[in-house]
Amino acid sequence: MKKIISPHLSAGHADEYLIDCNRLREAGFEEWLFYPGMLFMSPDKWWGNGGCRPAPHEGSDFCLWRDRNGRRFRLDGNTRIPAMFEGEVVGISDDFLGKSVYMRHDICDSRGSRLYTLLGHTAPRDSLRKGSQLDQGEVFAHISVRERKKTKIPPHLHISVAWMDASYPDEKLGWEMLGRTPEIRLLDPLEIIGCKYAITRPSGQEKKPRRSAPESAANMRLQDLRG
Ligand SMILES: [Zn+2]
Repeated sequence: MKKIISPHLSAGHADEYLIDCNRLREAGFEEWLFYPGMLFMSPDKWWGNGGCRPAPHEGSDFCLWRDRNGRRFRLDGNTRIPAMFEGEVVGISDDFLGKSVYMRHDICDSRGSRLYTLLGHTAPRDSLRKGSQLDQGEVFAHISVRERKKTKIPPHLHISVAWMDASYPDEKLGWEMLGRTPEIRLLDPLEIIGCKYAITRPSGQEKKPRRSAPESAANMRLQDLRG
């Protein structure tokens, strides 16, 4: 098992897998974009008419990126989701936009806590089960396109990262426990992932992404948000 002493491990751009398996670089990827409400511990919603979240945001929402020419794009249901690190799926549950996949990794801190990643709003491949072993970068899901009628939350990937005490049972892991139990210590995913990003404001002209055939490089040239 790898030992990581620092509470803020540097994963060395774990978003590279997300970029590569979706061929975003070929589409001119420059950096991720986040509205303030997409960031870790934000009290604010970034969708609909805004307002407050029921609890501070437990992770980061990956939804938007820009290319070298400053054009904005968004992820959609064709976006593949890779494992950030090698590890085991310890739980799959429904969330309000899709499924959440909980993964335990062979990375621990000086106290013996294990690193977990929790990926929300996914549509996992049919074969994915509790107990599935995934390689780093292995694609296991797409982004779910289920939309909440009332709130109209755009498709996005929620990523939470946490240290969890070895004594804490995997079965008790769930969104309702995050930030509410001392055995689970949330980390800022953007610090762990080490990705290039900028914080921006909504343009107010977001559109639904165009549906296009999967498996084509062109499908990742997504809807230009500038309208
Ligand atoms: Zn989120």
